[in-house]
Amino acid sequence: MDSTSAYHGSCLCNAITFCIEGPIKAVTHCHCSQCRKAHGAAFASYGSVPGTQLKVSDTQGAIRVFESSPGVSRSFCSTCGATLFWRKATGDYADWVSVALGTLDTPFVPGRQKHVHVQSGLCWLDWPAPTGVGADLSAMDDKVVPTPSDRGRYAPHRGGPASR
Ligand SMILES: [Zn+2]
Ligand SMILES: [Zn+2]
Repeated sequence: MDSTSAYHGSCLCNAITFCIEGPIKAVTHCHCSQCRKAHGAAFASYGSVPGTQLKVSDTQGAIRVFESSPGVSRSFCSTCGATLFWRKATGDYADWVSVALGTLDTPFVPGRQKHVHVQSGLCWLDWPAPTGVGADLSAMDDKVVPTPSDRGRYAPHRGGPASR
């Protein structure tokens, strides 16, 4: 393991700290209502690691787990309320943990990023038209986020009447 694949993070009050001993994969911004409520934010940003690569230190016993759906556990700090981890007990990634990326203290530059459940997202979210995101963007209101095809539609028209 090299230094670029070790990450440290903590909750807001620092009662819970953690270390990720490996690369962070599957960087996802989830706009679903459960993630929005859990974070109190317009969307939640998670990256995933195998559970064996996540070392959590919680000397005060501050961590709590809320089961938001059957088999889906959301871990948070009971002192400061920070959202930390998301885990699903069933399926192909049952031994993986999704870490709330806003809690990282180590610089992290994701490669590919994906927005999911965009159709459940807030209508007022005024985000810049992102690049390299998932196909779900096509479900967004054109007024909020132009899809790549719409950006083409609104682009200056080359070869129009003036050039004829
Ligand atoms: Zn805390
Ligand atoms: Zn979600």
